[in-house]
Amino acid sequence: MKKPLMRIPYTSPLPPPTPLPATARSLPGALAALQSFLLAPPARPDLSPSTVLLTGAGLSVASGLADYRGANGTYRVNATYRPIYYHEFLASHEARKRYWARSFLGWSSLRAAAPNAGHFAVRDLGRMGLVSAVVTQNVDSFHPRAHPEVPTLELHGYLRATVCTSCRGEFPREAFQGDLARLNPVWDAFLQEAIATGALATEDPHARRAAGIRMNPDGDVELPAAPYTTFRYPACPTCLGSPPRLANGSRARVEVDDDGAWSSTSNAGILKPAVVMFGESIPERVKVAAEEAIDGAGKLLVLATSMATYSAWRLAKRAMDRGMPIGIVNIGGVRGEDAFFAHLAPGQAGGQGVRVDMSTDSLLPALVEELRQSSLRGAGASPHKAVSQQNEGAIFKNMLQ
Ligand SMILES: [Zn+2]
Repeated sequence: MKKPLMRIPYTSPLPPPTPLPATARSLPGALAALQSFLLAPPARPDLSPSTVLLTGAGLSVASGLADYRGANGTYRVNATYRPIYYHEFLASHEARKRYWARSFLGWSSLRAAAPNAGHFAVRDLGRMGLVSAVVTQNVDSFHPRAHPEVPTLELHGYLRATVCTSCRGEFPREAFQGDLARLNPVWDAFLQEAIATGALATEDPHARRAAGIRMNPDGDVELPAAPYTTFRYPACPTCLGSPPRLANGSRARVEVDDDGAWSSTSNAGILKPAVVMFGESIPERVKVAAEEAIDGAGKLLVLATSMATYSAWRLAKRAMDRGMPIGIVNIGGVRGEDAFFAHLAPGQAGGQGVRVDMSTDSLLPALVEELRQSSLRGAGASPHKAVSQQNEGAIFKNMLQ
């Protein structure tokens, strides 16, 4: 039997990176190296000229979302923050109350957040024909929102839906939020006040703390000493209408109180976020699709992730084993990164591999601009003459052949 692929965080400190080539220490050097990387011909004739991206939480920081790790490789936001594990969520009604209460408070901030310039730069790289697909560990849906035309594989799922742990049916998170508000009027009043006073919107952790609020990744908001035990959440409507069969063949019990809140007398119909929780296995179809995204490209560019989860790291390993050049843009160390660059020829300009120790926020839009200028020079056009997006794509496709 194949070993299931689980989402497990890697919390050991990571060594600081060495920029590659050495010129990639400066912004112009990094831009030149990344251009060489994206435009280099395939490393082997059987590899595609296109690049697949593997992205992580750092890309969404400019959208106001929390990152898991800081530059020194430790959990950045709250040193004591520990995400809920799948087995806890499944096993404990109390753990689920706590999870959904915090998610209820976090959803409004997540919903108000939007893709940033980094995501739109990915869209532009796709339009240029340089990026064939994105594999992301992020659950914020920013990639599919920013570039629906560049396929995105969401390795760890998405927060925009809930999924039933019994029937696997999916439901929109937005409607679920309305159900939570209806079932928890006191919490809803608190949330409305927090929104009205801006306590949830502030970037300043001190201001949040003053309001008794702590923000964590994945739309999790913590209210120290809050009465989580009073929180109520709905049952899966499908399983409530038609209780599923249990593994032993008997009919499951799905019961709700007078208002429709899941009752602890139930043994099925539990909704969870449609994310792969820590300690949960990645669905086989997602695992296969991620591998196909890697295999469909000739290069891998890792953006804004330390690849702390094994599920992400093994995709980079797969790319390396296929002989694909690997580029990494991330502030701070990346798990096992030395192995990805051990074979680079001294003096290579970026075509064989790139390591940039910078934020993607301004780097990616600058890279798009540089590529546009190069395409103008390559096409022999006046640098003042605008190139349409269609032409732009054709020019880069020609350059890659
Ligand atoms: Zn169900």
